[in-house]
Amino acid sequence: MNPPQEQATLTGASTGTAPTLKIFVGGRWLDSSAKTTGEVRNPADHSLLARVPMGGADDVDRAVKAALAAYPAWRATPPVNRVRPMFKYRELLEKHFDDVARIITKEHGKTLDESRSSVRRAVDNVELACGIPSLMQGMGLEDIATGIDSQYFRQPLGVFAAITPFNFPAMVPMWFLPHAIACGNTFIVKPSERVPLSQQRMFELLHEAGFPEGVVNLVHGSKDAVDAILDHPGIAGVSFVGSSPVAHYIYKRAAEKGKRVQALGGAKNFVLVMPDADLTRAAQISTESCFGCAGERCLANSVVLAVGEAYDTIKTKLIEEAKRIRVGDGLEAGVTMGPVITAAHREKVLGYIEKGIAEGATLALDGRAFKHPKHPEGYFLGPSIFTEVKPEMVIAREEIFGPVLCVMKAGSFDEAVEIVKRHELGNASSIFTSSGKYAREYRYRVEPSMLGVNIGVAAPMAFFPFGGAKGSFFGDLKAHGRDAIEFYTDKKVTITRWF
Ligand code: NAD
Repeated sequence: MNPPQEQATLTGASTGTAPTLKIFVGGRWLDSSAKTTGEVRNPADHSLLARVPMGGADDVDRAVKAALAAYPAWRATPPVNRVRPMFKYRELLEKHFDDVARIITKEHGKTLDESRSSVRRAVDNVELACGIPSLMQGMGLEDIATGIDSQYFRQPLGVFAAITPFNFPAMVPMWFLPHAIACGNTFIVKPSERVPLSQQRMFELLHEAGFPEGVVNLVHGSKDAVDAILDHPGIAGVSFVGSSPVAHYIYKRAAEKGKRVQALGGAKNFVLVMPDADLTRAAQISTESCFGCAGERCLANSVVLAVGEAYDTIKTKLIEEAKRIRVGDGLEAGVTMGPVITAAHREKVLGYIEKGIAEGATLALDGRAFKHPKHPEGYFLGPSIFTEVKPEMVIAREEIFGPVLCVMKAGSFDEAVEIVKRHELGNASSIFTSSGKYAREYRYRVEPSMLGVNIGVAAPMAFFPFGGAKGSFFGDLKAHGRDAIEFYTDKKVTITRWF
């Protein structure tokens, strides 16, 4: 167990001063060598929570050296022993579950229930990694020729790093870290500079769980820190989640340096609604899918594509449902939608709404004027719905990542499928129908690789692979599930004959 005085200084936030965060390297909380800091603000009231060091090559190099130093002993630790601190970490996450959820809501803005769900998904991944002695096993075959046997073992590769987005601050790093270290690798997390506080807390818990020093490391910053990770010769592979242009850049630059890369990108997810669907349920579920987490979700179904006569009915029902959303501070009871992440992002979303009006879509529900009575400085927006949207409009093509739903009409199932297929992104999609034939046909023909049938947020559980297709994913092996074991290990094949 590590001494309590080595905990990160998050407490400053509650005493009215904004602490400057530390990095966690080699089992210690250290000052970053960054020359500048960024601000971490609560999106609900604009209050300053912390300053985050905008670290670069020096911090990354210190983390890589610590991770490389820890690797030989960690790799040689039997898997059954490697997962002991993982079980302890799971216990600590359960014990501090609400504490972590509150930090997420404060730094990100989503509701406490949404934060709790994401911590649950993080725990699911830790639980999966606890099974590594079974999951990591290889295979063998006797007598590949007479008297000759062959088998393969899975071996870790060294130091891996994860670069993660703002929208799921506690969960997304846990898509990677537990599996990577359980396989015997050592690890570095570079969270989004906009929401570094939940990882700070999760690393306090990792520390307390008793992982040997250097096995897990945390650095902060933005592009400079990312580039240093991509270029560092001591790093064997990189897991990335974020927007598509950055995902593509990460994929190219890290691969050029000979690293393994998995880069999950952005999304524009369509929900196809057939006339034979339960339209009341389809409207309820699609509203939650689009406006949950204020639309800042890579699995948000942000375009409802209604086929034929489903259009008029679903349009009315979606507006009715969206009017029931209660916007406010995610910590307030009864609130169902929090603010967006920053003032700048709010402006960007407003810009998309202006664009939609200019393009000729109908703004059937206008959320622009929402102001919180107690927090006028918060980055709030009410839900907005555009109808009469056409596939070529910017609001139908680009990821808005805010509480804006586009409703579009397709003349037939085939036309709807073509609209989905023409889009360059392919993260997730859903179909609402009571016909098995249409559901099967949809799954067969469209590319988005996380698919819901009468489900609004088709989020694969920890034991299934998570990741999209087309411009939403760069790489081969996806996040978590068995893909994680493949990504974080190499297969060593031996062929043996004894004379
Ligand atoms: P982002 O791409 O701006 O940032 C992601 C990470 O990359 C951050 O750690 C950031 O510091 C770093 N970064 C940003 N710009 C960079 C640059 N120019 N060079 C190098 N590094 C850079 O993404 P975001 O705004 O934090 O997150 C939202 C995006 O993430 C959305 O597009 C969303 O769809 C996507 N996302 C995808 C998934 C998925 O599973 N596919 C999951 C969650 C979020």
